[in-house]
Amino acid sequence: MAEKTQADVLREELGYKPQNAYRVLNEEEQTRVTKYCESYKAFLDRAKTEREAVNEAIRLATANGFVEFDRTKPLKTGDKVFFNNRGKALILAVIGEKPIEEGVSIAAAHIDSPRLDLKPNPLYEDHSLAYLDTHYYGGIKKYQWMTIPLALHGVVVRRDGSVVTVCIGEEPDDPVLCITDLLPHLGANQMKKTVSEFIGGDDLNILIGSKPLPNEEGTDAVKLNVLNWLSEKYGITETDFLSAELTAVPVYKARDVGLDRSMIGSYGHDDRVCAYTALTATFALTKPAYTAVTVLADKEEIGSDGVTGMQSAYLRDFIEDLADAQGVKVRHVLHNSVCLSADVNVAYDPLYPDTVEARNCAALNQGVVLTKYTGARGKGDTSDASAELMGFFRRVMEDADVVWQIGELGKVDLGGGGTVAKYIANLDVNTVDLGVPVLSMHAPFEVVSKTDVYMAHKAFSALLARTEKL
Ligand code: MN
Ligand code: MN
Repeated sequence: MAEKTQADVLREELGYKPQNAYRVLNEEEQTRVTKYCESYKAFLDRAKTEREAVNEAIRLATANGFVEFDRTKPLKTGDKVFFNNRGKALILAVIGEKPIEEGVSIAAAHIDSPRLDLKPNPLYEDHSLAYLDTHYYGGIKKYQWMTIPLALHGVVVRRDGSVVTVCIGEEPDDPVLCITDLLPHLGANQMKKTVSEFIGGDDLNILIGSKPLPNEEGTDAVKLNVLNWLSEKYGITETDFLSAELTAVPVYKARDVGLDRSMIGSYGHDDRVCAYTALTATFALTKPAYTAVTVLADKEEIGSDGVTGMQSAYLRDFIEDLADAQGVKVRHVLHNSVCLSADVNVAYDPLYPDTVEARNCAALNQGVVLTKYTGARGKGDTSDASAELMGFFRRVMEDADVVWQIGELGKVDLGGGGTVAKYIANLDVNTVDLGVPVLSMHAPFEVVSKTDVYMAHKAFSALLARTEKL
């Protein structure tokens, strides 16, 4: 073999060169990646809403020895607890060996995803077809939700306070719902519209029935038949819709993508891909040096407001309960803590090269993305992690053989976005973003690579099991 030139050596030793995970992982590790992703796909299929994600996470946590947090009971090293925030957000903690004053390690992902929520008075009939009117949740390209099979998930609180869980469309013999589109033959005017005008928010109406109530001639006969069906199946009335959270999500199950099966296509990778990988990292802990706190938050896609969103006090209050138990002020714990705000980032898409700056964009199979800042334009709306914090996580990950890369959220002047990072950073916690690169983010069918999913699990494991102080 030819001698390495000086340039070869310099490239290798001095250059930043993200690695394709397939060139780094041996066959045994690649098998582990595939196996891990099978369990991730099962999680995706069982957790299409934040409520379902909380239920599934608690089911898994319980199987892994976690018990419900009771602030009146003392905790010792190695204890595993979870705190269920109203069935829509979850905190898990594994108590560490060090005094809590030295800080905790936090992994914070979100479990809500863009979707179509039903309006409070959604059901109507038009020309003998029954519809559910929706109000979209999170940032979507509305046209992507037309002519795809939709399932209806959620809960309805009846007049007497009882709660009905609804899930229609997930079983193979279930009916599904959909939003119709105009035939191309008559679409000349429609297709002159811009994509953002293509279908309005108030026109995202889901077809739900066409059969009139038997022996009924009124113009609401189809709607009445739907109401009758809902009453018989779920014992709910039209008024009950106002005390409901019903949401339409894609019917798709998570599937391997690519002839090489190297990727996973699914609804809701953002951000269950970080939620699941943080969960499994948390489950594997026994006696971490620092107390590990994993948060699965709600409402990220609409700004993190509300009691179950990351702007709510529940994370701080939970840590305060842990601090109180050790007679320590919570602000001292928070100041010494480190957090990975676990969320997805854009993956380089060769079909849309103009939207990102390739040297600073993540790519599929190059590992988890460490994102110094998100935000928009001149770093508006971001907590922008310090060089020291970036250096810390880089060391933690490299020591654990995590394949990682850097990434920005697209071109500087183009758009941007945010995560929960700033809300946690604003609690005086050292916080940086880390997550999985995604193709078609926020689409009904998003794509991630299996190696990146596995590397996220490894990165969260390395953080939560860290022995190093920031
Ligand atoms: Mn996200
Ligand atoms: Mn998102």
